Amino acid sequence: MSRKIRMGMVGGGQGSAIGKVHRMAAALDGQIELVCGAFSSDPRRSKASGAELYLPADRVYDSYAEMLERERRRPEGDRMDFVVIVTPNHLHYAPAAAALKAGFHVMCDKPMTFSLAEARKLKTLVDRTGLLFGLTHNYTGYPMVKEARELARGGKLGAIRKIVVEYPQGWLHELIEATGQKQAAWRTDPARSGAAGCMGDIGTHAESLAEYITGLRIDSLCAELTTFVKGRKLDDDGNVLIRYQGGARGILHASQIAIDEENGLNIRIWGEKGGLQWRQEEPNTLILKRPDGPRQLIRSGQGYLSRRARRACRLPAGHPEGFIEAFANLYCNYAEALGARLAGRKPDPLALDFPTVDDGVRGMAFIEAVVKSARAGAKWVKMAE
Ligand code: NAD
Repeated sequence: MSRKIRMGMVGGGQGSAIGKVHRMAAALDGQIELVCGAFSSDPRRSKASGAELYLPADRVYDSYAEMLERERRRPEGDRMDFVVIVTPNHLHYAPAAAALKAGFHVMCDKPMTFSLAEARKLKTLVDRTGLLFGLTHNYTGYPMVKEARELARGGKLGAIRKIVVEYPQGWLHELIEATGQKQAAWRTDPARSGAAGCMGDIGTHAESLAEYITGLRIDSLCAELTTFVKGRKLDDDGNVLIRYQGGARGILHASQIAIDEENGLNIRIWGEKGGLQWRQEEPNTLILKRPDGPRQLIRSGQGYLSRRARRACRLPAGHPEGFIEAFANLYCNYAEALGARLAGRKPDPLALDFPTVDDGVRGMAFIEAVVKSARAGAKWVKMAE
């Protein structure tokens, strides 16, 4: 490639939570430039957001439909290459499907869609168009998560027996949606969030992290969802027992009423020969547990790491790398995969290491199975393939 990859953004305007993180992550390695956007459902806000980012006024659009149409008509050497979607969950499918139909590659935030049915339709469209689809389950971007994957999938732990993964947060312990808090308002609204609240918002991160590291797929699960805060319409807490294919067992809990918890994503895995632990709030350390000696601390930036993990480090050991860098690792791989396609060459196989539409379908199947089980009084249900 003799140029940067061009990104258009849907959502992520002024006052949004994750739009800015996407822009920082996409820009970090100098491979991607933001060229246009439809940043809000309100055209005035979209314009103001684009102006703040110094985008030319004629590339800040009133709607994603206008953006797709006008970008499609620009010369090939000038139009955007891919669209990133950072709107609330109920507004993922329509822009993603429209972008694919218009011939644009897509990056989308999680959960991938509003429902499993939409997720399956999107997968059909991705398969049919052959376009590149990435999903920002960003916790899979941390170097120590990649090292955990190499160790777990490489047999270091032996056959995996048990996975305990939790994602506690405390920010929804009161009815803050009633105060107009924007991020809380749509996340707790079944018409905009989907069938689950907390379990869809952060439970899916825990589900995807466990699968990314171990490669194990959920066979069936038994779930309880609770709404603790009076007046709230969706779950703000959930506990799930999991049976993985192959026999491993799991416990997954997610909560948004766990006072004082920030982003306490924490995973512990035990196999026949050892165990692993990784905590998002201490992301540069991975703990390896052995039956015959003291635990070992594996650290980001070190030369002894696997190629997959080293490739995801940018700084020498001891200089903290964090959330933005891990997020950027998804964009970095996506850019390498897309750049290779556009240049007609084969990508580095490790660049294909980012979540895809298949992960998105499983995330939605997880949400649907959890809700079905909880509604049936915590019955065991099979997770759809
Ligand atoms: P938010 O409410 O803060 O921002 C949503 C943005 O979308 C706003 O700028 C809004 O104006 C815009 N928008 C709404 N309708 C639109 C439309 N029709 N066209 C264009 N723009 C429109 O939401 P958020 O908290 O940033 O979440 C956005 C998405 O990102 C959600 O799917 C959420 O689950 C996901 N998210 C992911 C992570 C992560 O760690 N990967 C973190 C936070 C949020």
